[in-house]
Amino acid sequence: MKRRDFISGLAVTSAVAAAGQTGAKPGEPMQIPNPSKQVPRVDHAKNIMICSANGYSYIDAGFEKLRGGADTLDSAITVVSGPENDPNDDSVGLGGLPNEEGVVELDACCMHGPTRRAGSVGGVRDIKNVAAVSKAVMEHTGHVMLVGEGATRFAVALGFPKENLLTDRSRRIWLLWKETHSNQDWWGPGLADPNWKPPAAMSSNVAPSDMELVKSQPAHIQKLYSAAADLGIAPQDRMDAIHKVLYPPTGTINCSALNEKGEMSSVTTTSGLAWKLPGRCGDSPIIGAGCYCDQDVGAAGATGNGEENIKVAGGHTIVENMRHGMSPEEAGMDALKRISRNYNHDMTRLSYLNMFYYILRKDGAYAGVSLWSGRGDGPRRYCVHDGTRRYETAKYLYEGVAKNWPPMPQLPK
Ligand code: ASP
Repeated sequence: MKRRDFISGLAVTSAVAAAGQTGAKPGEPMQIPNPSKQVPRVDHAKNIMICSANGYSYIDAGFEKLRGGADTLDSAITVVSGPENDPNDDSVGLGGLPNEEGVVELDACCMHGPTRRAGSVGGVRDIKNVAAVSKAVMEHTGHVMLVGEGATRFAVALGFPKENLLTDRSRRIWLLWKETHSNQDWWGPGLADPNWKPPAAMSSNVAPSDMELVKSQPAHIQKLYSAAADLGIAPQDRMDAIHKVLYPPTGTINCSALNEKGEMSSVTTTSGLAWKLPGRCGDSPIIGAGCYCDQDVGAAGATGNGEENIKVAGGHTIVENMRHGMSPEEAGMDALKRISRNYNHDMTRLSYLNMFYYILRKDGAYAGVSLWSGRGDGPRRYCVHDGTRRYETAKYLYEGVAKNWPPMPQLPK
């Protein structure tokens, strides 16, 4: 921090302290002094939703509810329950990639602006709609956060159906990880297994057109390819599965909603980092990290490396930045810079991280900001609906794509 910034920070702190001394009378709202700029006054609020790109197929349904006068949180939960229910989305809800023991554990949290309440659940097993469970914690308990077995039992008590969230697809990818990332234990069929067979020869499980490609890869990727074939992973899914084994994917959905009355809410839900330690919670269930909403200012949610976001309390930091006059984009960029600062801007380390913030201010201004400009398949995008559903390209802190190592084979066409 420059000395000048530090001094102006002190000035703000003393102004707040001074206001505290004059104080508000009981029952009167306390005015929090705003340094130089203000959150813009809102004369005409509008219906608008913002969410991560994986909400694109579901945002229409949420927006219809919002436009029809439904509550902002209910509308946002409609969007995020789409991927929660989709067995083919392996980053959220049913079909999410599991922890290292092969068990799917889900995290979620929500904030309801109009009533200034919050709810959260972490490490939930066997219940897919954890965004709605986080809302139930908010509405039906005196708590804000429930985790683990207690959270599952609470959900069951409220009538949420229990089911095995590990789909066949996710199980096979987990087995591929388990078998190939453990050479010290006994995963995979042993020699005595009647079904044991020697690892498939490359020539038997690689399409002739892909042979050159696969043979040019490092030995461990060739081995993964064979193991994937042995596990019955379809040829067209093998490279994707190998990618997920080598680079444990993250993936989450956040959605914020603002209505014509100026009410706001936000919700985040995820199966978290693949192959995580059992019990690991990322940022998604942390109010103030994976999601934050303040009815006076706006909302922000996150996807990406949860550990990094928790350390900068990203959602809260961004909303506070907007309270102090920053635009949504400036507010998000500042949070990204804090992540960069935590690594002393070491680009080698940062190149392995991803972080994306979805930001909506109470006047309807919004931004999507990302640590890196792109991902493998093009620029980083997010999704907006204000009557027109669309993808928008994120603003970014650094040009480039977060790295994978070692270099991956190209996906066979
Ligand atoms: N933030 C999530 C977590 O760390 C993952 C993600 O957003 O991709 O669990």
